[in-house]
Amino acid sequence: MDILIVDDDPILRHLLRRQLAGLGYDVQVVADGAQAWDLLQREPIPLVITDWMMPALDGPSLIRRIRAAAQPSYTYVILLTAKDARDDIVAGLEAGADDYLTKPCDPHELRARVAIGARIIDLETRLRAARDTDELTGLRNRRAIASAADAELAQARRTGRSLSVALLDIDHFKQVNDRYGHQVGDLALRLVTATVSRGVRPHDAVGRWGGEEFLLVLPETSLADAVLVAERIRAAVAATPLLLPSGEQVVMTASLGVVNTATDDSYRLEALVHQADAALYRAKAAGRNQVCPLPSAALAMSGS
Ligand code: GH3
Ligand code: MG
Ligand code: MG
Repeated sequence: MDILIVDDDPILRHLLRRQLAGLGYDVQVVADGAQAWDLLQREPIPLVITDWMMPALDGPSLIRRIRAAAQPSYTYVILLTAKDARDDIVAGLEAGADDYLTKPCDPHELRARVAIGARIIDLETRLRAARDTDELTGLRNRRAIASAADAELAQARRTGRSLSVALLDIDHFKQVNDRYGHQVGDLALRLVTATVSRGVRPHDAVGRWGGEEFLLVLPETSLADAVLVAERIRAAVAATPLLLPSGEQVVMTASLGVVNTATDDSYRLEALVHQADAALYRAKAAGRNQVCPLPSAALAMSGS
């Protein structure tokens, strides 16, 4: 776990760094609140130990900034201070500190209080993972893939690079449930999940958009390249049947609608998904087991 030490006293910084590194933490140090704030905006660090009095941006001010920022993950803050008057401690906690240590700090107390922070961070990390994960497939759920897509769209807008979105829907999936039962249907969904996950590249994101519908977010990908990715996934799904204990094979196919920010330059996920849905509808109408880009002109439709 990463820890950030914020203190203007170089000797104390060094001492704390050595103690915490000795306990197995990854430690970064900065000399004042302003530097800490710069760093935290670039890279979230789960646990911060900050001095109270520093030349640029004091401890409580730093903490207030951290608390006011809508950061995706929690920052546990321990205020380190020579002040041990009750009023100061209360003021530090009211600024948003989770805990405090008074200088000079005892190494055993430091270890114990940092361990409390690590427990809270671990709990928060697990809660966040549970909130973002679809239980059946282990993929990002709708909320999480939408938020990943929003972040990628903001990045694409900044850099001017085009981003593609694909909506994949398993064909006639209701028939799988009707014929083999819901449990086999669940297994089939997991198998398609594995196939889709293997088909995307490391920087792509996949989520379960709805029942048997997946959303693929492909950053820095033109429409033509996205069609190639989608086509590879379509072929892999069709070529990967679910094997039942009876020896029977459940063959599945999927249809995909693919769109790109070059044609919808609103950079809004809602608009892109709306278009991808229209493309998907066309793929279904054209006989399923195919990839349909939108706009479709100049791009060969692929399919069975
Ligand atoms: P189409 O080719 O038009 O997409 O046909 P379809 O049968 O796939 O589409 P439809 O929307 O009619 O049915 C989707 C089915 O997916 C119905 C629903 O029971 C099933 N489904 C959705 N989520 C799950 C799930 O978590 N587990 C299982 N087993 N089935 C699911
Ligand atoms: Mg379907
Ligand atoms: Mg569907």
